[in-house]
Amino acid sequence: MNIHSNLIGGNIAVDRIENDTVYLERELRDTEGDWFYWAFCVEGAAGRTLTFVFPSKHRVGRFGAAVSHDLREWHWSESGSGDTFTYTFAEGEDKVYFAHNMLYHPAHFDAFCARVGLKQEVFCRSVKGRDLPAVRFGTGKRWILLTARHHACEATGNYVLEGVTETLLSRLPEDFAVLVVPFVDYDGVVDGDQGKNRRPHDHNRDYTDAPIYEVVEKMMTFGREHDLCYTFDFHSPWHMGKQNDYVFFSRSTEAMEPRIDLFAEYMKQATAAGELKYTGAWDVGPNEAWNNETSPNSKNYFSKQPSVRLSITTETPYFGVTDGSGKISQDAMRALGRVFGHCILQYPAQDGTV
Ligand SMILES: [Zn+2]
Repeated sequence: MNIHSNLIGGNIAVDRIENDTVYLERELRDTEGDWFYWAFCVEGAAGRTLTFVFPSKHRVGRFGAAVSHDLREWHWSESGSGDTFTYTFAEGEDKVYFAHNMLYHPAHFDAFCARVGLKQEVFCRSVKGRDLPAVRFGTGKRWILLTARHHACEATGNYVLEGVTETLLSRLPEDFAVLVVPFVDYDGVVDGDQGKNRRPHDHNRDYTDAPIYEVVEKMMTFGREHDLCYTFDFHSPWHMGKQNDYVFFSRSTEAMEPRIDLFAEYMKQATAAGELKYTGAWDVGPNEAWNNETSPNSKNYFSKQPSVRLSITTETPYFGVTDGSGKISQDAMRALGRVFGHCILQYPAQDGTV
């Protein structure tokens, strides 16, 4: 049996294996403080039932591990939560991927772009010299900026972003254009870093006078040089519990509140019949809890630009709940994104800016 992290987004340290129990832990790497992301592959365990045990109860989600055989399609193991999960490998089931949550890799975005006919560009180089992808479309001068993975491990945001992009692509008014930067911390996504609370600071604390990440500097410059109207930044919250189990907005400045209220109303109505619901009940307002207006993050930076009408961070849970607000699946997240896209298209006429 071989347990390893030799995969895109891989992250695991195996401590020891005792009979059918595997003791393991996530790797923090350059993360300050605790975080919970892990992803690994098990080969050569066909026919066995293994129990995986972490040293913290904040490692395994509500529905067990995310499981995949191809790194594309993911489902829940439905066996365990907290610090442990169990998996029975069928005869012939020789290679299985397990992760904290349903991973979204560059290969997912490649497949999406191929399906809808979008051509990717190299937005800039990552810190490690990789080509950092983006797409742009539309003929207008009023820009919508869509971003995800300011925090490398937060894959749920990418599924929503994909759905948003699909809707905008199909119905974008001719006076608009869209820039999508799906993997802001691209190295972290590929290498399987936590990304959150990276030292000296992570990508979503880099919107300063002297950004250290080229991708952030380029987006800041883009914002200054274009008529940027709307920015939506897609994240995943903390591991789980309370608001972390629901879709919610992390709001921007006090000045933007009336416009975000309006957009939130659309979202409430539009998602009410969907699998994943946004109710507004869990939103974190400006200067509530950790959401400090002066924090140098993406939404705060763009919300202070005069041209920007809406700047919102959307948090999509890793697991969700079965209380009617929605359990996470790849399809449910993409569907939420498509509805989100319709709300973006609905918004300008009501805002009085058209
Ligand atoms: Zn985040």
